[in-house]
Formats: sequence, structure tokens, C-alpha cells
Amino acid sequence: MITPEQIAEVRAARYNATVTHLHKRHDDLMVLRVKPDFPRQNYLAGQYCTLGLAYFEPRVGGCQAESLKPDELPKLVRRSYSISSSILQDGTDEVRCPADDDWLEFYIVLVRDNPDGRVPALTPRLFGLKEGDRLQVGEKIVGHFTLEPVTRKIDTILLLSTGTGEAPHNSMAADLLRTGHTGPIVNACCVRFARDLGYMDTHRRLEKLFPNYKYLPLTTRENLAGGSKKYIQDLIASGELEQFLGAKLDPSACHVFLCGNPKMIGIPYKEKESGTWKHPEPLGVIEVLERRGFTADNPTTRVHGNVHFEKYW
Ligand SMILES: Cc1cc2nc3c(=O)[nH]c(=O)nc-3n(C[C@H](O)[C@H](O)[C@H](O)COP(=O)(O)OP(=O)(O)OC[C@H]3O[C@@H](n4cnc5c(N)ncnc54)[C@H](O)[C@@H]3O)c2cc1C
Repeated sequence: MITPEQIAEVRAARYNATVTHLHKRHDDLMVLRVKPDFPRQNYLAGQYCTLGLAYFEPRVGGCQAESLKPDELPKLVRRSYSISSSILQDGTDEVRCPADDDWLEFYIVLVRDNPDGRVPALTPRLFGLKEGDRLQVGEKIVGHFTLEPVTRKIDTILLLSTGTGEAPHNSMAADLLRTGHTGPIVNACCVRFARDLGYMDTHRRLEKLFPNYKYLPLTTRENLAGGSKKYIQDLIASGELEQFLGAKLDPSACHVFLCGNPKMIGIPYKEKESGTWKHPEPLGVIEVLERRGFTADNPTTRVHGNVHFEKYW
């Protein structure tokens, strides 16, 4: 067992940030703002850091059972989270600048169970937090999934995500809009239900403010008003994305950013026996785009193509 004194000691020694804002879009989806005790470093849109809580913190109900040894209780469970953005300053039409904020925003889904792997440890605890609570935030903000490869303001930018994978894309959208990107920007997010589109109102507002900004919500378990059940891969393969964009996808003037479920991204893998590179089945977005003349980043050589990706697991 762990004593209240030990709990207080671990919290005092290891936690270095406070929850300043917590908005549950629904029971399993939240936007969280966290203010570190330390001056937070500058970061690039698309980067991430870690959040952590001790195993002794309570878990919300309705999650997969977890069995812990007593000596594990004071340890911290840490996971990576992309830094998100509400894009517009609260209650205004002004695009946010991260330098103005002393907090970091995160967009997090509760993973209740994971039949194929480890028991979800952090999100059942994060969803028990409330404003004013303490947690640990990693001091280093890192990541190669940034707008660095975008060097021309006229290029087309496609931000394609699943679920909370839209978090880094929202930071990127804010950056592009704030710095006067003139090329088309399409922010598409695929979720199961419409209620999982946590930033929908902001995107609709941005479409009114910026003629080059378009939001494309996709749902796989229900029909959106005026829409249909679709995966991002299908949308590209069928030509519907080009229709939505109003132009052909031109690899020489377009950057595609993919974030979220690895199955949507479709990262090629090296087959152990033959050592050759294989494409996953069913095909992900990378394969669909490479057949159309795009080139994905190579994480081994760190050579940039025009398809950039961040997988969440
Ligand atoms: C670079 C990076 C950035 C990330 N940014 C975010 C983010 O902004 N928001 C966020 O919610 N998650 C993000 N994740 C995932 C996050 O790190 C955790 O894995 C996730 O919150 C679940 O934590 P857990 O401890 O409860 O379960 P874990 O043990 O970490 O994961 C258990 C299983 O949950 C599933 N899973 C993990 N993440 C998600 C997800 N986002 N949506 C649906 N299923 C998932 C996978 O099947 C995984 O195997 C990111 C991951 C990486 C590598």
C-alpha cells in the first residue's frame, strides 16, 4: 500500500504543471490546457511533449482492469502528446500566436481498453483530472513533424488526420494562417461519430474568415449532414478530395501531412525474411499518394518528401 504522505511526496517532487482549463467535449474527449511551473521553451507547430501522472492516481470508471504491484504505484506513466491549438484567440477572430500563451493545449481521447496490447495506463488517469490539479509535463518539446518542408506560401497544404491526430494540424493551421499562407489549406479529419469532431465550430468559423481554408469532416460510423461515411484513403482514390479542393493534386506544389492511426497513414515496413519494403494491406494514404507521384518522408535517412507523417501508436 501507499500512504497519503508518500503520495504527497511524489506529487510535490515530480509534478511540475497545473491544469488551467479542461473542457470535455464528451465523456471520452477533452481539450486540456496545462501551465508548466517553468518557462516553457518555444516550439514549432506540429511538435509534441510528454504528460505524466503517477500510477497511484485514480482511474475513471468503465476502463479495462489494471493490475499493479505495490512498488509500481509511486512510478510515473508518461505518454507523448502533440501540442494542439484552438487556432483563434478565445472569443475573437484573431489567430493565436503560441508565444502569447504560458500554457500548452492538448487534445486527448480516452482509450478505455486495448484488447491487442498493454492496458491503457495514462488516459484513464488524465480523464480524472480537473482544473487546478497537478501533473507532470515534459520539459522538452520535440519532433520532426513540422512545417519546415513548406517553403512556398502558394503551395497546397493537406492536413489529413484521424481522431485526435488533428491536434498538431491545428497548430500548423494556426501558424499558416497567421503567417499569411496564400495557397489552399484543407484540414480533413476522420472520426467515428460527429460528436468526436472537437474543434468543428472553430474550423467552420475559419472557413468564413479565410477563403483559402477548408475543413472536411469525415465520419465512419454515421452519416454527417450532407456527407457520407468515408475513410481518407477512399476520398483520395475516388478523386473526391480533388473535387473538394477544386484542383488536381500536384506533387510539385503540394505538401501532405498525415497524423493519427497508423492504418490510415500506411507506413511501408521492411519484411524480415526478404529484407524488402512492403506496403500494408489495405493500402494507407502514403501508398495511394505515392501512386500519384508523391514521395513520403524517409524517417531512416530523414530525407523529406512531400508526404509527412506522425503515427500515434
Ligand atoms: C508523437 C505522439 C503524439 C501523440 N499525440 C497524441 C494526442 O495529441 N492526443 C492523443 O489522444 N493521443 C496522442 N498520442 C497517443 C498517446 O501518446 C497515448 O498513447 C494515448 O493517449 C493512450 O495512452 P494510454 O496510456 O491510455 O494507452 P497506451 O498504452 O499508450 O495505448 C494503448 C492503445 O491505445 C490506442 N491509442 C493510443 N492513442 C490513441 C489515440 N490518440 N486515438 C485512438 N487510439 C489510441 C492504441 O491502440 C494503443 O496501442 C500521441 C502519440 C505519439 C507517439
